[in-house]
Amino acid sequence: MYIAETFHSIQGEGALTGTPSFFIRTSGCNLRCRWCDTPYASWNPEGTQRSVDSILEEAASRPAFRHVVLTGGEPLLAKEIHDLAQSFRTAGHHITIETAGTLAPDNIPCDLASLSPKLSNSTPPPNSLPEAQRQRHESQRLNPRVIAAWLRHCDYQLKFVVSQKSDLDEIHRLLEAINQEGVRPIPSRVFLMPEGITETELQSKRAWLPQICQETGFRLCERMHILWFGNRRGT
Ligand code: SF4
Repeated sequence: MYIAETFHSIQGEGALTGTPSFFIRTSGCNLRCRWCDTPYASWNPEGTQRSVDSILEEAASRPAFRHVVLTGGEPLLAKEIHDLAQSFRTAGHHITIETAGTLAPDNIPCDLASLSPKLSNSTPPPNSLPEAQRQRHESQRLNPRVIAAWLRHCDYQLKFVVSQKSDLDEIHRLLEAINQEGVRPIPSRVFLMPEGITETELQSKRAWLPQICQETGFRLCERMHILWFGNRRGT
């Protein structure tokens, strides 16, 4: 498997915020988000080839932990991701998979699907990359049928990066499209995350996001790892 990094840290977003966990970040992504904060796993993928066994050995050598996070890039693209998840399941770990929700779960062992569907605010501006890649991002970024399959597959959270108030219209349209696929998303499992990788950027969105959460029943999602560690790799 092509792995960008592995590290032991504390989850900084979503329902498991504050939970010590072992993170495995695969390298490679089918999307090209404008504001991607892990370009070394997407736009410019880096890493090393690792076997499932070597990752398991490293995990076992870390301090006591129960939670594992498979993230990326897009972890569902990684060869052997099913084998890796099954190995952690067999060892009794809690598995979170962080995915954009464009690729089907295909029965992968998972306790919490942390889905982050990409809104139009993710699409890179013209001329920032070859037009064919930009169009591919635009055509692949949302797939309500695949997201519905994840919601049926296991416990879930839906995390949205929000740049502006008008993003909410898009979120409501997507939730309705998922509903049309036969699964009604639960509002309290919808997390709104301010876009930004600095405390100043995040603070500017805190002025209006709490009010939106009060009106919709969605949850405000702080990006605590940026507050705790800054925007650094390995955190
Ligand atoms: S899906 Fe995630 S890893 Fe891929 S480009 Fe978007 S933010 Fe980056």
